[in-house]
Amino acid sequence: MAPKNPLSHAKSPAVTRNVKHVVLGDLLFQTWYQSIYPEDLVSKDTDRLYVCRWCFRYSCDADAYANHTRACLHRTTPPGSKVYDHGGYSVWEVDGEYNKLYAQNLSLFAKLFLDHKSVFFDVFSFLYYLLVYTNPEDSSYHVLGFFSKEKLSWDANNLACILVFPPYQHKQLGKLLMGVSYKLSGWEHDPGLIGGPEKPLSEMGSRSYSRFWEERIARYILLRDAQSGDAQDSPQQKQKTPKGTRKRPPHEIMTVQDIGLATGMLTEDVITALKGMGAVETATPSKKRKMPRTSTDGPDESEPVIIRKSKILEWAKAHKTTLDDPIKDDGFVGEWAPKGIKEVSLTSDEEGEGEQDEQDEKEVEKDDEYLTA
Ligand SMILES: [Zn+2]
Repeated sequence: MAPKNPLSHAKSPAVTRNVKHVVLGDLLFQTWYQSIYPEDLVSKDTDRLYVCRWCFRYSCDADAYANHTRACLHRTTPPGSKVYDHGGYSVWEVDGEYNKLYAQNLSLFAKLFLDHKSVFFDVFSFLYYLLVYTNPEDSSYHVLGFFSKEKLSWDANNLACILVFPPYQHKQLGKLLMGVSYKLSGWEHDPGLIGGPEKPLSEMGSRSYSRFWEERIARYILLRDAQSGDAQDSPQQKQKTPKGTRKRPPHEIMTVQDIGLATGMLTEDVITALKGMGAVETATPSKKRKMPRTSTDGPDESEPVIIRKSKILEWAKAHKTTLDDPIKDDGFVGEWAPKGIKEVSLTSDEEGEGEQDEQDEKEVEKDDEYLTA
């Protein structure tokens, strides 16, 4: 993920940047890092490199660039096929094998803003997902960023490299790309893939992903009751509830893996998010239960902990999180389009084996106030 703050690049030695500025369409902006453009085409001290905003071909010559933009093959539509389209933003899948030059030029351009990832010349084995904005007034389109993904990842990576181009940052567009990357890993389907971004993440990538994961889990924990109909139907629910039983159990027991399965996230990423939200409390000895330890659990991971919805709610309010999903299921097209009406999963009474989501009744009531408000 590209750093959000260009100023943080001051420590990057200027001498390592072979290109100082780029012109992308009608935008001129500074580069951040060295790329590996061929030296016979782009000299080591290029002040201004012209890059086609549709196909990422490049030139140091303004006239050649102008000539190209009049004839660019991709000036009306991006290459590849559209997988997502909502609210003017669309995502296009480009196969590096069939669009080799495009993928290489995109990678060379991206490297100007990425420090930690190498540019993959092995574009054959990658898919590229372009984030595109289409101007409703004249139907012109702009590529705002992209992520790449290995076609076959042995490490369950759903994303290799992500970049929102500098002029388009600070608009929550990275979250849209991250959300699409999770959806495209197919974790909701059987057999799906629980995955995450390629590690290690850069410092800023780590920050961006942590926030994305935290919001994803906050949505899951805080909205799951509302989604299953409890919130809207609470009066009827109360009538149907047999005497002497509570509308909802005071706590649920679930494993980190359960949360991961529900959100498509790796266990380690779920733990990162829960800790980041300050939502994890060590269970007091009296509340600990004897839990069978699974073979994959480390000594710490098998310790039951308490996750309070109220803490997650506090976190969401403090971070002004709206709990809106950055992507909309209805926006997916082609093979990723929603198929019919999904069955509502009613598995809340299933018990897990490791981590423990425990709340006293008072807190459930408090959370109910929020969910039904
Ligand atoms: Zn072009």
